[in-house]
Amino acid sequence: MPQPDQTCCGVIEEAQYRAHRRRANKPQPWIALKFTVALTIALTGYSTYVYAGRFCKDMLMKNSNAQGGPATGVAFLVVFCVLLFLMSWSYVMVVTTSPGHARDYTQTTTRPGYERQNDRPSLNSNDIRGTSYELTTPTVDLSRHLTHEPETQSRSDSQKHHLQLLPASGSGNGDRAASQASPIDSSVAKTERNSQATSADPEEAHVTDVLAAPEAPHVPDTAILPTHANTRESSKNNSPLMISRSPPSTPVLLPEYRYCSRCKIIKPPRAHHCRACGTCILKYDHHCPWIGQCVGAFNHKFFVNFLQWGTVFCFWTLATLLGLNVKSQTRSPAPDLDPQQIVVIALSGLFGLFCILMFITQLHLIRLNQTTVESIGSRSMRDREQEVLSNEYRWYEIGAKRRTQKQWDNEWGEIGREGNLWWLGSGRANWEAVMGKNMWWWFLPIGHRLDDGMSYQTNPRFDDQGRWRRRKEWPSELR
Ligand SMILES: [Zn+2]
Ligand SMILES: [Zn+2]
Repeated sequence: MPQPDQTCCGVIEEAQYRAHRRRANKPQPWIALKFTVALTIALTGYSTYVYAGRFCKDMLMKNSNAQGGPATGVAFLVVFCVLLFLMSWSYVMVVTTSPGHARDYTQTTTRPGYERQNDRPSLNSNDIRGTSYELTTPTVDLSRHLTHEPETQSRSDSQKHHLQLLPASGSGNGDRAASQASPIDSSVAKTERNSQATSADPEEAHVTDVLAAPEAPHVPDTAILPTHANTRESSKNNSPLMISRSPPSTPVLLPEYRYCSRCKIIKPPRAHHCRACGTCILKYDHHCPWIGQCVGAFNHKFFVNFLQWGTVFCFWTLATLLGLNVKSQTRSPAPDLDPQQIVVIALSGLFGLFCILMFITQLHLIRLNQTTVESIGSRSMRDREQEVLSNEYRWYEIGAKRRTQKQWDNEWGEIGREGNLWWLGSGRANWEAVMGKNMWWWFLPIGHRLDDGMSYQTNPRFDDQGRWRRRKEWPSELR
């Protein structure tokens, strides 16, 4: 909650903040949610009319502007109808299957944890309290380990180097001491104070939760990166560069970190609140306007099936319409172009591209057993590491960058795989967890619920509260 500020700017800011909270708490109206479903059906209907009722019909009827013979017309129409059927079937399944609403499976309760003093986030902690685990800040601990230098020298160095402070890092893995010992400049100190204020106040945590809905993940941006000039200077001085990876230490599996203040429930693991739907969704992937609801635990597989057939349907339509229209223009006399077919060529190209990009992304994420919202954390962590490395090394020091990253991976495991709380150990296992073991299920929108949306196997490389551990702390058979 912002501090009351009596200045003009303060009043405006508070009014904006309250308006934002009101909007954030309200789901979208039903008509707005479902409008795109009607639009999708209308566009499919129109494309079917143009393809079957104009393009194929001309060929079957041997009209003068036909693009091919009757046999071609029949073959194209049959393939088109099969693909239309598979895509429509998948679409009906994904639209009519609920993603799984957490409120149907959990009881409402008050925010837990604050009576348990030991679990309460420490005011002196360097951790920024994650409001839900996908939002915890992936971090790279930039704190240099200046143990080779006396404390006084560290301090004077820090004024030159703008030493970095890391959010959500350190505790429990031995880096905290280094972090805390690192002197910080005034801007960093200010950032730290702000972030601690955020994490300390229970009401504020609630507010952060409201503002940080999964569609717009809030990744606290408090890591202050070193400037090029400063780090170059440190390289020149040959001071040993000891940057280390320090993943968030937030115990994300604890009920305190899974509380949804809007639904007043303790979210099951992997569930998140969807701002558009106004409710918590089991194994939330993302809110998809084209299906008018979320993609979650129970309809994720159908969504992938829809993308598969949507891609094939669009590219079949595009290829046949475009191919024959181009080919017919080489004839003499060339038949007139049908403007409606041109419109469908553009539509199928656009939607085909959209579907295939979504499909490739989904394939990649399913192989990692990450939902879209969970992948944001990994991506952000990777980006930060790249940023840190490019600040620490010159652009041509590619080998050194690789070696540092490899060193981190040796110590911790790979981001997104060993460093993914839900990674099941192999791409195949991850794929089957979403798409099923039966190969028919991979291609057809059939199959019962593969999971209950409430409990998921966790990666044994994490502790039982959901914190990524170092390789040396992993079960011995996994090291
Ligand atoms: Zn919720
Ligand atoms: Zn939604």
